[in-house]
Amino acid sequence: MEPLLSRLRPRKEQGTYALSLVYGKTVYHYLISQDKAGKFCIPEGTKFDTLWQLVEYLKLKADGLIYRLKEACPNSSASAEAAAPTLPAHPSTFTQPQRRVDTLNSDGYTPEPARVASPDKQRPMPMDTSVYESPYSDPEELKDKKLFLKRENLLVADIELGCGNFGSVRQGVYRMRKKQIDVAIKVLKHGTEKADKDEMMREAQIMHQLDNPYIVRLIGVCQAEALMLVMEMAGGGPLHKFLIGKKEEIPVSNVAELLHQVAMGMKYLEEKNFVHRDLAARNVLLVNRHYAKISDFGLSKALGADDSYYTARSAGKWPLKWYAPECINFRKFSSRSDVWSYGVTMWEAFSYGQKPYKKMKGPEVLDFIKQGKRMECPPECPPEMYSLMSDCWTYKWEDRPDFLTVEQRMRNYYYSLASRAEGSPQCGQVAEAACG
Ligand code: ADP
Ligand code: MG
Repeated sequence: MEPLLSRLRPRKEQGTYALSLVYGKTVYHYLISQDKAGKFCIPEGTKFDTLWQLVEYLKLKADGLIYRLKEACPNSSASAEAAAPTLPAHPSTFTQPQRRVDTLNSDGYTPEPARVASPDKQRPMPMDTSVYESPYSDPEELKDKKLFLKRENLLVADIELGCGNFGSVRQGVYRMRKKQIDVAIKVLKHGTEKADKDEMMREAQIMHQLDNPYIVRLIGVCQAEALMLVMEMAGGGPLHKFLIGKKEEIPVSNVAELLHQVAMGMKYLEEKNFVHRDLAARNVLLVNRHYAKISDFGLSKALGADDSYYTARSAGKWPLKWYAPECINFRKFSSRSDVWSYGVTMWEAFSYGQKPYKKMKGPEVLDFIKQGKRMECPPECPPEMYSLMSDCWTYKWEDRPDFLTVEQRMRNYYYSLASRAEGSPQCGQVAEAACG
């Protein structure tokens, strides 16, 4: 049975609220109270500093309620806000329909509400999503743009989206002036050295300078219970995981579409003179089946205006199978070495999530490459695409194509497929919007 209505109202007893959920013919009442420290919670539930954070959390997780909060009774919002000292004059949480993170279910995609009516509802376009433009593209929101975010505007839920050496990436919500957005929050784990904090801040500083539809944007950094890097959400997970076992379901044209988007993001980085240094399918995150973004700028560097490469002082924990020979031999990193990694990423995608150089160890790969050998063409991979990835694996960096060329070749190929396919009216639209 569909849950019907929820309602939040302040109680006579100062600082407490009643949350009522209707389910079928039954009304369930929950008491929201504040503990001695002023934190809000439902009985036995997770505690939050503000009512707004608690309500946003209960939209993501039932946490003991009969169901997750959907929409609250609009009438209740004004009074609840007026009575709640912790809720500043922001758009009401309670009157907004529940936002959901895009999910990639087995039958495809749950689209976000499109801004422009799409001619084909099954086929959402990147520009129809909320993460195509920066949340700061609105001049009103831009007024508040700062690297450091206020903790009270951030909800960090105990829902893990992924993890790494630094700690975990959690789902959350960030409240802006006029809207609130879904975010992914990289939380630095406790007990880390200052060096780790510095590293995370360097990652934030890099991301802060980038703004492109095909790159995960940084919203800001929050220093509170831990150092947190707040990013826009790409909830579909990493590209290689998405593709595993989906040869039947995801056509080659869809793979080419996503790889073309990665090429557009990389072309932007190349133009801005940034090197990524960790381009791999694991660091390409999906917003939905037809929309990819480059993420993980943990190893990235901004090059000097007159420099075309960065020389690492010493070798580190490097993803050797994705690295060009000059990275391993001379610790030299450029957009051309990112092109090599792009080739490996292409291979991963067209092999539907296989691991590159399967049985080989990292150092063996360099020998293999030096002998002039390269990975074979994956069974599903079109010859045009294998030819491009082979060019990305040109030994000498001077002879390798740049992203300007790679993007053009990807675009030509993808559009040739799209125009061959029946009923693809948006093809021209993509060309104009994305590459115009
Ligand atoms: P690491 O440096 O440890 O590789 P990543 O930045 O790649 O960290 O993040 C690790 C994982 O966290 C990703 O594989 C993904 O599952 C999740 N994640 C990271 N950023 C986001 C994001 N913006 N949206 C959704 N999930 C994310
Ligand atoms: Mg990563």
